[in-house]
Amino acid sequence: MPEAAWPVPPQGTCPLPSALDVDVAILGAGIHGAALARELGLRGVSCALVDKGEVGGGTSQWSSQLLHGGIRYLLTGDIRQMREGLAERAAWARIAPRRCRWEAFWMPHRSWPEGLAHRIGIGLYDHWGSDRPDWPPELRLGPVPQDVFQADPRSVQAPFRGATAYADLMTWDRELTKDLAASSDALVLDFHDPEAFEDAGGELRTLRLRDRRDGTCRQLRARRWVGALGPWTDGALAAWFGETRPRLRLSAGIHLWFDALPGCERPWAIRRPKGRILFVIPRDGQLQVGTTEREVTDGWVPIVVEEREELFQALEENLPAVPWRSLPVRAEELGVRPLVVAAGLTTHLSREAILERHPRFSNLHLVLGGKLTTARALMDRLATDLTGQPCSASTTEPLRLWDGHSPAFR
Ligand SMILES: Cc1cc2nc3c(=O)[nH]c(=O)nc-3n(C[C@H](O)[C@H](O)[C@H](O)COP(=O)(O)OP(=O)(O)OC[C@H]3O[C@@H](n4cnc5c(N)ncnc54)[C@H](O)[C@@H]3O)c2cc1C
Repeated sequence: MPEAAWPVPPQGTCPLPSALDVDVAILGAGIHGAALARELGLRGVSCALVDKGEVGGGTSQWSSQLLHGGIRYLLTGDIRQMREGLAERAAWARIAPRRCRWEAFWMPHRSWPEGLAHRIGIGLYDHWGSDRPDWPPELRLGPVPQDVFQADPRSVQAPFRGATAYADLMTWDRELTKDLAASSDALVLDFHDPEAFEDAGGELRTLRLRDRRDGTCRQLRARRWVGALGPWTDGALAAWFGETRPRLRLSAGIHLWFDALPGCERPWAIRRPKGRILFVIPRDGQLQVGTTEREVTDGWVPIVVEEREELFQALEENLPAVPWRSLPVRAEELGVRPLVVAAGLTTHLSREAILERHPRFSNLHLVLGGKLTTARALMDRLATDLTGQPCSASTTEPLRLWDGHSPAFR
């Protein structure tokens, strides 16, 4: 991977000493790494959180920012994954109330039979997801009244006859990740490049790190190691250990950000072919639109013309009254999903996560795949496996808000 692909680090120095010793070293400070750091802190186990970039500076800042049960799983039939997501959604609403906001998403339908199918599916989704701490009573679920639907400018000239509203939880992904890190007691080694490992008898022992800000080298010693490197996992394992077997397939997705459109109050989730969803979400005075799926080979890839075009075409087909192409695009972003091949199937890529114990280094665990939504639960499980200590506080202890400074500098 070319070094130039990594964002340039900021000015500054890290106050940590040149030799560090912890129980667990976590490589990668996205939602998974940061959630694991919190879990270990709750269990009183020391850890370091190492990232070549900044905390929350990878995929975990380019998601659709939904802590969701996955309404699309109603279409793909993955009910187990959906129910797990719905349970986790409630846990996030409890521990991160200031980084979460409940919303009534509208799913529009093109015909009455489709509307009926949506009502049944959404009825089940909201029934299974009825644990909604602090749900705002003014948000209405179920069939959207016709006059309310028609008052939304997106319904004008659109191929839809109405909509059904379902509940989901919106978040701010980068901030949530930083809050998790701030809620840990981890030594935070952001902007540190892992250069070389020392291994002994099939176990990793120490890691030499280079601070990308000023070139300082540090030695990190740990008894257990966890790789939570998102879409960079295969590249890092190739660079560190010469491994060539890919564990992930990478899928890029883009979002476009427009100025808010007057009258667009509620987020829309529009069904597209192949079980995909087009989100049109008003948030923070803007309109977030996405997303696409394109197979890629690295965590740092540029947006290509075709995927921007695909999104515009989907918008024009579904919401033709809005002059999308003449609206200024305020920002566009691309994230890369780390996807694993679903168990037993060679073709089906899953949003589920896998925890793998490294075949060569018995004290190295890898987090493969996953979602924001299930990151807490998965890292709770991993922390319990690593320490032998379950921890009920994981689903109740509120997150500390990140205060703008890396936790290492507190
Ligand atoms: C377009 C899109 C939309 C999505 N929408 C949703 C959604 O709405 N809801 C949901 O639940 N999930 C969603 N996801 C999935 C979710 O965003 C990801 O699965 C999740 O953020 C992955 O987190 P992670 O911690 O595994 O990886 P990352 O956040 O990528 O973290 C990996 C970290 O490793 C660091 N790193 C990489 N290489 C090295 C190295 N050599 N040394 C040290 N550090 C390194 C990186 O800098 C990065 O910070 C979406 C994903 C995409 C792409």
